[in-house]
This record gives sequence, C-alpha cells and structure tokens, in this order.
Amino acid sequence: MSGEPLVVVLIGPGGVGKGTLARRLVERDGHLWLSRSWTTRPPRSHETDADYHFVAREEFESAIDEDRFLEWAEFHGQLYGTPRPTPPAGEDVLLEIDVQGAEQVRRLIPDALVVLVTAPDETSLEARLRGRGDDEAHVRARLASAPEEMARGRRVADAVVLNDDPDRAAGEIVSILEGLRRARRTPA
Ligand code: 5GP
Repeated sequence: MSGEPLVVVLIGPGGVGKGTLARRLVERDGHLWLSRSWTTRPPRSHETDADYHFVAREEFESAIDEDRFLEWAEFHGQLYGTPRPTPPAGEDVLLEIDVQGAEQVRRLIPDALVVLVTAPDETSLEARLRGRGDDEAHVRARLASAPEEMARGRRVADAVVLNDDPDRAAGEIVSILEGLRRARRTPA
C-alpha cells in the first residue's frame, strides 16, 4: 500500500456492538490500526487502558488547547477524542466514534469511509446497553438519543451495515474496504 492511510470510521447507536465489530475487523483485515480514544468518562468495571485512555477533564482540555486531537466531542456529558493518528507504515486507520466526531472527520478527510452500524432490533440495543452496568438514567438517555444519532449517521455515512452477526458484518466492511484500496491503486 502507498500514500496516505485510508481512514475508516465506525458509527452507530450505543449497544449496536461497534467495539466487537472493530476488533473483528482488525483481526480479519490485517492492515487496520485501531485508534485508542481519550475520554473523561470513568472506566466501566471490565474496562482497561486498552479500551480508552482515561483522563481527567483538565487533562483533556489541555490536550484540546494543544491541538492534539483529530476530532473530539462531548457525548452525554463526557468528552471523547481521537488523538492525531500515528499508524505503522502501510496500515489504514480505524476509528470507533460518535456521529459528531464522524461529521468532523468527514470535513477534514473527505475520502474517509464512514460506516453506520445498525442493530437488527431495538431490544438487542437495549439489552446490550443494560448489560454494561451503566445506571438506568444513562441507559434511558442513550436509548432516547439513538434515533437522532441514526438520522445524522445516515446523512454522513457512505455505507450502512447491519450487525446481525459480527463476523458477517466485518466481512461486508472488509469487502468495501478492499474495493476502495483497489480503486486507489488504479490510476484514474
Ligand atoms: P461509551 O461511553 O459507550 O464507551 O462511548 C460513548 C460514545 O462515544 C460511543 O458512541 C463511542 O463510539 C463514542 N466515542 C468513543 N471514542 C470517541 C472519540 O474518540 N471521539 C468521539 N467523537 N466519540 C467517541
């Protein structure tokens, strides 16, 4: 591969399984580097430093002032941001972020591939959100914001992929990605 890395952005409502799908994509594709975001949200019980760089709000705000983020956004009262990516040579970049972040990436990198991940039904979203141990008010707030996130997501996305099964969905995204890589290698 040559030239600038491709940037692939996964978006979708909470509970849709973006995290699992992102890991599956990295395993299957072999040329994707998953960015680790910063957040001011406290870690959930099962989370480690591999999931996020967990920081205090002051540290996050200093990093904003120092222009260290490709994009950042406030989501349900917490800050989340993508540090400027540093993939190894030859690898493309995978981001798993919210729709506000995807809108910023689209403005900065017009040829980024934005994929909206959708759930087969609402009950699976709700069950996944509840299974994370977040409090009820937070679960309800996230469910309530899902329709707006989906509507904005459809406007910014290049592709909509149903996460009925993470392996199948990852395969679909890898096919799209391979098509894009081929198109970039082919002189116009
Ligand atoms: P959670 O708190 O459930 O881990 O994440 C909340 C939302 O923030 C999810 O939609 C997740 O994709 C998004 N998110 C995670 N990292 C980033 C980031 O670096 N930037 C933005 N804009 N959103 C992020």
